[in-house]
Amino acid sequence: MAWFKKSRKPLEGPADKSSKIPEGLWVKCPGCAEVIYNKDLATNLQVCPKCGHHFRLSSVERVRMLFDDGVYEEHDADLASTDPLQFTDTKPYSARLKAGREATGMKDALVLATGRIEGRRAVVCAMEYGFIGGSMGVVVGEKITRGIERAIAERLPVIIVSCSGGARMMEGALSLMQMAKISAALARLDRARLPYLSVLTDPTTGGVTASFAMLGDLNIAEPRALIGFAGPRVIEQTIRQKLPEGFQRSEFLLEHGFVDLVVDRRELKAAIARALGFMLPAAAPRAESVETSAPAATPSEFETTA
Ligand SMILES: [Zn+2]
Repeated sequence: MAWFKKSRKPLEGPADKSSKIPEGLWVKCPGCAEVIYNKDLATNLQVCPKCGHHFRLSSVERVRMLFDDGVYEEHDADLASTDPLQFTDTKPYSARLKAGREATGMKDALVLATGRIEGRRAVVCAMEYGFIGGSMGVVVGEKITRGIERAIAERLPVIIVSCSGGARMMEGALSLMQMAKISAALARLDRARLPYLSVLTDPTTGGVTASFAMLGDLNIAEPRALIGFAGPRVIEQTIRQKLPEGFQRSEFLLEHGFVDLVVDRRELKAAIARALGFMLPAAAPRAESVETSAPAATPSEFETTA
């Protein structure tokens, strides 16, 4: 027999809590610990107005930011992984895919889009960190490759914005093959004499760094982005040495010749447009330039895949 009985329903707790402090209205900046109003961040391309800390952009925010008036056409949005290995680690890969889809509303970790950058048409691929850490699986590889092939067919430049933890190990060797596949497609783009700009954002690591992210005609990094192959912790444990200050950050890599430019996000679009203006002829290029371009300019190992 119960001594006390709840005769009434409990006070409506959860509804009350949510109404007091709307979630995500204020953000604490990890750079300067300042509390920033979310709308101020949004109008500032998610860059802290006080210290310039770059918050992570979603892939959709990224393409909106790069294209004129945020207008673009998305391609191959329906490509989805089939979980070929029926892989399970701490949880099934199929569950991770489902969680990623629910979190981002996307089928996989990349947006492939065409639009105009300061009037010039371009193909942009933007990786989505919110989808299994922006990892590169079969779908990401296929979409980037299709983007490059589209660029070759329509004579457009390619911009890939990396934001990734590397190859998606739940797809095993298939994910690693994407490195070669995308690199081979980029070699064909090079032979067609079309520019490829790589934008490296926080974080760009693993197989993404080891393939297309470092193959740009221009490699542009956002400030203070973590860029590397293995993470700093793994390297320190392997070589048993303390790494230098700022190791694997954009500025360190610029100093050591790994990236060409470090550009603030607020100036990124202008920098890309300027580079494209420099690399591409103002008038429409002649069609035969594809055939007459020198194959000697590309690495020989890519020749067989063309
Ligand atoms: Zn700040």
